[in-house]
Amino acid sequence: MTDLNHHCRWLAGPAFLSHSEDHWPQDTFVEPLREDDSEVKTNKWSGHTSTSETEPTFQTRRSYRLGHDSHVSVVAWICRFVRNCKLKAEDRLRTPLTASEIRNTEMVAIRRSQRDSFPIDIDALKANKRLQVKGRLSSLLPYLDEEQLLRVEGHLRKAPVSSDARNPLILHPKHHITRLIVMHHNLRLYCTSNKHVLNELRQKYWILKGLATVQRISSICPSCRRKGVQPVPPVTADLPDSRLGYQLPPITNRGVDYFGPILVRNGR
Ligand SMILES: [Zn+2]
Repeated sequence: MTDLNHHCRWLAGPAFLSHSEDHWPQDTFVEPLREDDSEVKTNKWSGHTSTSETEPTFQTRRSYRLGHDSHVSVVAWICRFVRNCKLKAEDRLRTPLTASEIRNTEMVAIRRSQRDSFPIDIDALKANKRLQVKGRLSSLLPYLDEEQLLRVEGHLRKAPVSSDARNPLILHPKHHITRLIVMHHNLRLYCTSNKHVLNELRQKYWILKGLATVQRISSICPSCRRKGVQPVPPVTADLPDSRLGYQLPPITNRGVDYFGPILVRNGR
């Protein structure tokens, strides 16, 4: 502490600061760069990145809290904006979203999810190659339709049902788009049974591990959890000693119910 008087450098600063700027020392730290200096990086690296996205990218984490309808609507408006940017001002669409725009956006989302989930299978189908025998899709006989969507070939070509039900779209159970679609149907059907939801989904989609996926989604649905919860029965009190008499003759203890019966309304 004796060194910390008012002349100390820590308190008064360097001595040259008390003189005019002409008397300040010149920068003496600049010196030629030595090649063996350990601070100098000798490795040089250059990189190049390029993207070739032709369809809107779905930022799954940012849209995590959006529902299916909101998600499709947002992407549809973005597609509308991009399309309008390429048109003259007088040709631009300013109406509400049309049904075809929403349908196209849904197909874009599904095409994107299929591309994310089954890139090798889609490349093989485009190249007219056979799929791997032990692959996840080989048993479904998949094919790419005219919109480049992956569909189940199946054996229902003669069935009197819609074309979507005959050749449903293949979805991966873990993809975000699948989660949105399953949750949408779950809520649309008022959180009914999982098999009913799966049956409705199969009118249009073929989700791998379908029932397990529906069960997983319904387990995180607040409404489903509220409906499925079991009430906890209250713990009953101990029996009175008058009912616990040992080796007593009948009608030793008697009682009269002065209070009841009481009508109880069971419900909320
Ligand atoms: Zn639900």
